[in-house]
Amino acid sequence: MTTIKKITTCSILCGFISTGAFGNENLKSFITVGEGYNGEIKVETTFNGNNISDIKVVDHKESNFTKRAMKKIIKEIIERQNIDVDNVGGATFTSKGLKSAVTSAVAKGNIKLTEKKLAKKVYKNETTDVVVIGAGGAGLTAAIAAKEKGVNVILIEKMPMIGGNTNYATGGINAANSSIQLSKGINDSIDIFIEDTLKGGKNTNNKDLVTLMANSSGKMIDWLVERGADLQDVGRMGGQSVNRTHRPQGGKAVGPNLVDALSARANELKVDLRVSTTATKINEKDGVITGITVTSPDGQPYTINSKAVIIATGGFGANEPLVASYNENLKGFGTTNHKGASGDGISLTKELGVDLIQMKEIQTHPTVIPTNNKMITEAVRGNGAILINRDGKRFVNELDTRDVVSKAELSQKGNSAYLVFDQSVRESLKAIDGYYNKGFLTEGNSPEELATKLNISNKKFKTTIDQYNSFVKNNKDLDFNRNDLPRQLNKPPYYAVEVAPAVHHTMGGIAINKNGEVLKNQKPIKGLYAAGEVTGGIHGSNRLGGNALIDIVVFGKIAGDNAANLSQEK
Ligand SMILES: Cc1cc2nc3c(=O)[nH]c(=O)nc-3n(C[C@H](O)[C@H](O)[C@H](O)COP(=O)(O)OP(=O)(O)OC[C@H]3O[C@@H](n4cnc5c(N)ncnc54)[C@H](O)[C@@H]3O)c2cc1C
Repeated sequence: MTTIKKITTCSILCGFISTGAFGNENLKSFITVGEGYNGEIKVETTFNGNNISDIKVVDHKESNFTKRAMKKIIKEIIERQNIDVDNVGGATFTSKGLKSAVTSAVAKGNIKLTEKKLAKKVYKNETTDVVVIGAGGAGLTAAIAAKEKGVNVILIEKMPMIGGNTNYATGGINAANSSIQLSKGINDSIDIFIEDTLKGGKNTNNKDLVTLMANSSGKMIDWLVERGADLQDVGRMGGQSVNRTHRPQGGKAVGPNLVDALSARANELKVDLRVSTTATKINEKDGVITGITVTSPDGQPYTINSKAVIIATGGFGANEPLVASYNENLKGFGTTNHKGASGDGISLTKELGVDLIQMKEIQTHPTVIPTNNKMITEAVRGNGAILINRDGKRFVNELDTRDVVSKAELSQKGNSAYLVFDQSVRESLKAIDGYYNKGFLTEGNSPEELATKLNISNKKFKTTIDQYNSFVKNNKDLDFNRNDLPRQLNKPPYYAVEVAPAVHHTMGGIAINKNGEVLKNQKPIKGLYAAGEVTGGIHGSNRLGGNALIDIVVFGKIAGDNAANLSQEK
C-alpha cells in the first residue's frame, strides 16, 4: 500500500495536501469532506498525475451497512476515472457525500480526469447447480449452505448492494436453548418459544414450520457464530416470556453484523455473487424447474440454467399498491422497508400458480418516526422504555404484540405517541447512540423539562414516570400488566421520540413445506425452494420481534441444503 508523506497542513475544509511517496512527486493526496446521511464523510483521495489512484474513507458516522456501498462507489470511480457513477440504492446520501468529497479533492488538486471507457461485457446463457434469487439474510444463508455442500452456486441481487431488509434489522434474533443463553443461565425451552410464537400469531401460524424453526433455533445461532456473527448479548422483545433475543455485544444493531459475517463467508467460499442483476422469470418445463432468466446490470437478458432455484426475494412492504390491494386500511401508510422489498417473489411465481397464504397479514411496527419512517427498535422498549400519549399518560403494555400496540397508538390524540426513556436505557443499548447521533431524540435533564419540550403537562408526565418507577420497584405493573420491568427511569438525561405505526413486515407469502419446497396445490414443485420473508405461514397474523431473522436463517439453511442435494441427483 502506498505511504503518503504529509508536507503541508491546513484545516480540513481547505484540505491536506501531501506528495511524494517513494520519491514519486506525481503523487498528491487531499483530505476533503462531503455531507453524508449522518454528517461529514472525511475522505483521502490520492492522485497520480491526473489519475485517481486511491480513495480512502478516513472518518464517517454512516450506518455500518453502507460500507459496502462506499467500497462499490470507490471501485467504480477508480475503474472509470469518473466521479459521476451511480449512487447505491439504500445508501443514496452516503454515495452523494462520498462523491462530493472526491469532487472537492479533484477541484483542489486542479486535476483533469480522463474517463476510461470500459469494454461492454456480453452476457451469455450459462448453467450452474443452484441459483439463489436475493442476497438478503435468507439468500446468503441458502447460498452458503449449498456451497458448503460442494456444489456451484450463483447468488443474484437486484440492488447494487446486498443485504435487503436484513441490513436494517436492529433488535435481535430469537432462539431457545442456544449455547449463549445456556452460558448465561437463562432458563428457556423450545416449548415456550413455540407457545409464545403461536400466541403472538393468534394461533394462525403453520405449527409444523414453527416447531421446526424453534427446534433448529439454538443450533442456528451456533452456526451463525461459527461463521463470524456476534450474538453474545441476550435481551427480550414484545410477546416473549423469556430473554431470547440475541444481538451483538453492547446491544449493537444485529442486521449489519449478520450481513457482514454471511457475506464474508460467502466471499471466502467463492460464491458467485452478482449485484444489480434482477430475476425476471423462473423457468420450468413439464412442471420441473429449469432455471431463471435475469437482466444484467446494463439490462441484457440471459438465462441461468439450474436444477434448483431458491427464491429469497424478501417481502413486499415497500410496494404500497400491493400492500393496499391486500389490506386497504394500510393505503397511504409509510414503511420501514428498503426499496427492494417490492414483492418480486410473488410476481415471479404468479405464472407458476404457486400457493400463496395469509397475504392479508401485514404487520405495522408501532415505533416508527412519522416524519422520516425510521424505525426505533423494539429492543428500546424491551430494555425499559415506555409509551406516553399527549395527555402525559401510558396507554398500553409496551411489550404487548405489535398489532396491539399499533392499534392503541392509533387511538391516541394525533394518532401517535412518545417513546420515553432515560440514560440508563440508553447505556443498555448501543443502537440508541445511533438514534441520538442522527438527531432523532428530544432530551431533557428532568422529566418536567422533557415534558415542556414535548408540549405535555409537566405534572402529568412526572406523575406517570413516578408511577411507572414504583411498578418497577414492586415488580408489578398495576396499570397494564407489563411482564418485564427491567429498570426504573430515573437517570438523567431523559429522552423522547414521537412514534407511530408504519408497514413493517409481510407475514403472508409463498407456501412452503418443511423441506423449504414451494407448494402448488399443496404439492412440491420439483426444483423450486423459498426461504425468508417471501414465504408465508410461519408468523400467522402477527410476527414477534426477533422471529423474522431466525425464520430466514433456519429456512435459508434448509432450502440451501436440500437444493444442493437435489442438484446432484442423476
Ligand atoms: C427496519 C427493520 C428492522 C427490523 N428488525 C428486525 C429485528 O431486529 N429482528 C428480526 O427478527 N427481524 C427484523 N426485521 C425483519 C427482518 O429484517 C426481515 O424480515 C428479514 O431480514 C428478511 O430477510 P430476507 O432475506 O427474507 O429478505 P431481505 O433481507 O429483504 O433480502 C431480500 C433480497 O432480495 C432482493 N431481491 C428482491 N427481488 C429480487 C429480484 N427480482 N432479483 C434479485 N434480487 C431480488 C432484494 O433486493 C433483497 O436484497 C426488521 C425489518 C426492518 C425493515
